[in-house]
Amino acid sequence: MAALLLADQPVLALTVRPPWSQFLAAGIKRVENRTWEPPRGWRGRLVIHAGVRLDYRGFWFGARLGYRVDEDEVARGEYLAVADLADVHRPGPDCVADCAGWGEADCFHWVLSGTRRITSVEGRGRQKLFVPPPDVRELALAA
Ligand SMILES: [Zn+2]
Repeated sequence: MAALLLADQPVLALTVRPPWSQFLAAGIKRVENRTWEPPRGWRGRLVIHAGVRLDYRGFWFGARLGYRVDEDEVARGEYLAVADLADVHRPGPDCVADCAGWGEADCFHWVLSGTRRITSVEGRGRQKLFVPPPDVRELALAA
């Protein structure tokens, strides 16, 4: 039942560990790697929430691609941006150009388009896809 209701939502949020969240919010990274797919083929507006815990591998990875983020300045525990989830696929023939730089071999590639910033709102992260707070949802729908 919960999965059905989730899949009916036009706006869902995803917590991403910094600095990956920062790369997504800036529109630099347009492919998010997950070991799972959205429930029932969900597509819609995906709000990027920056988690609190850092993933240090991301700093190294970003720098390797020419994107440096300062550890002390990266947003944490905030809703940052909204994007349209355009496609989800396994690595292979469906891959887009951005998959080459950011896509991981053992993950589903979530392809984001039209990423835009929203007024940042503090909030706690969650596991998997979740319904964001009403104010964030409104910002995402208006963005
Ligand atoms: Zn791909």
